[in-house]
Amino acid sequence: RTVATVVSGNKVSKLVRERLKKDVEEMRVQFPGFRPGLVVLQVGDRADSNLYISMKLKAAAEIGINATHVRLPTTATEDEVLRCIVTANENPEVHGLIVQLPLDSVNPMDPEKVANTVAPEKDVDGLTSINAGKLSRGNLGDCFIPCTASGCMELIRQTGTSVAGKNAVVIGRSKIVGGPVYDMLLWNHATVTSCHSKTTDLAAQVGRADILVIGAGRAGLVKGEWLKEGAAVIDCGINHITDKSKASGVRVVGDVHYPSAQQRAGFITSVPGGVGPMTVAMLMENTVQSAKHFLKTYRQRKWNIS
Ligand code: NAP
Repeated sequence: RTVATVVSGNKVSKLVRERLKKDVEEMRVQFPGFRPGLVVLQVGDRADSNLYISMKLKAAAEIGINATHVRLPTTATEDEVLRCIVTANENPEVHGLIVQLPLDSVNPMDPEKVANTVAPEKDVDGLTSINAGKLSRGNLGDCFIPCTASGCMELIRQTGTSVAGKNAVVIGRSKIVGGPVYDMLLWNHATVTSCHSKTTDLAAQVGRADILVIGAGRAGLVKGEWLKEGAAVIDCGINHITDKSKASGVRVVGDVHYPSAQQRAGFITSVPGGVGPMTVAMLMENTVQSAKHFLKTYRQRKWNIS
């Protein structure tokens, strides 16, 4: 048999970003001077967060989104963080607001409270309870979907695999990856199984999957031999392992043992270059959608009062 077709997040995300750039240009023709606005709020100075934020800012600049990086020091209090969020909530030039996680502060922070202070209509990371609740009920057209999850769905769509009626297995049940991926697959009518650290026979569950999405954060957790022949495998994992052949001494790998999985899967995403770039592209998509929604509401309001 032939090896799996690689689904390239680099390629698909580029197409998404090019489409969004055109959308923003059209908005600016219709509404001169208008730009979608995104605020990225960071608490502290984690190296990984800095890297992710720089990728988001770069993508935003290329598309024509006005992105602002708001930085608070590690000494920031929860009150200060909440106040910053409220300021962005109230600013009509901000259409998307994300709080980069994890919060890197010396002070106690309630991440749930922080997430839920973001106005649901600006919550382009889809992390408020309102958006998560709508997603879990299947109101897909009326909520922001967490970007990694919608990125996975876009990659599955690119494979041409139909989701309805398929057996889908999701490893991981976090708020940002596994949970929303489960919901997306369910409401796209797959029969979905959720696996997590207490799942007893992971190999047996994986073996039933026509579609497998993994977000566990465990390098090489899924072995190629476990896979159903021809499965679509979407790997969200980002793990740093030591590799003496690299100048940096480390290498980034996913949660799937790629060399063996490639021999059995029908489609597979690589790490890096798979889900990662899609996450950034879908954040841009959500921000542009939010700006469009803002313009629509604003126009209607103007029309009503004239
Ligand atoms: P997380 O909050 O740590 O959640 C990990 C999930 O995996 C948990 O539900 C956990 O189960 C489950 N799990 C852990 N070990 C397992 C095992 N041996 N067998 C089965 N399930 C296991 O992590 P996360 O934030 O969801 O991120 C997951 C991975 O995706 C990480 O590598 C992260 O870096 C990556 N990620 C990538 C992107 C991207 O853009 N590509 C975005 C976000 C995250 P329990 O619930 O039982 O603890």
